[in-house]
Amino acid sequence: MSEKELRQVDDKHEHCYVMDGKLALPYQYFAGRIGSKFIIALRDKKKILGVRCNKCDKVFVPPRQTCERCFEDLSENWVELSDIGEVTNFTVVRYDDGHLPRKPPYVLALIKLDGADTPMAHILDGVPPEKVKIGMKVKAVFAAETTNTLLDIDHFEPV
Ligand SMILES: [Zn+2]
Repeated sequence: MSEKELRQVDDKHEHCYVMDGKLALPYQYFAGRIGSKFIIALRDKKKILGVRCNKCDKVFVPPRQTCERCFEDLSENWVELSDIGEVTNFTVVRYDDGHLPRKPPYVLALIKLDGADTPMAHILDGVPPEKVKIGMKVKAVFAAETTNTLLDIDHFEPV
């Protein structure tokens, strides 16, 4: 280790040293059969799909293979959801970090789509943070270009 790599943070903190490093970490993971179908429908048809558990009478979105309540296989029980839903909870992101999808401040909301029983987390835009209310109706706005992720819904905005 050379002294160039280890440096004191500043003059006030004599025992506080940092090292600069770089980490390149390309990776892949399988989105799964359920996750792939969900993203492809979002990307190619601008449709939001969920899965229904007929035993529990619950619709899950984003979809999952197995019911979290009764462990029933849900992989063939596709349902199309509305692109309109309501805010069930929210927070205001105020810190800036390179991995975040927006420049803060922005609202990250839990949105329960009409016809779904579980909320999904997404960006709520088009309304100032101080005006966001639980129960407000919002609509998905699809992205102009695909990223092959949940961000193919660019954000939600008030109806
Ligand atoms: Zn179930």
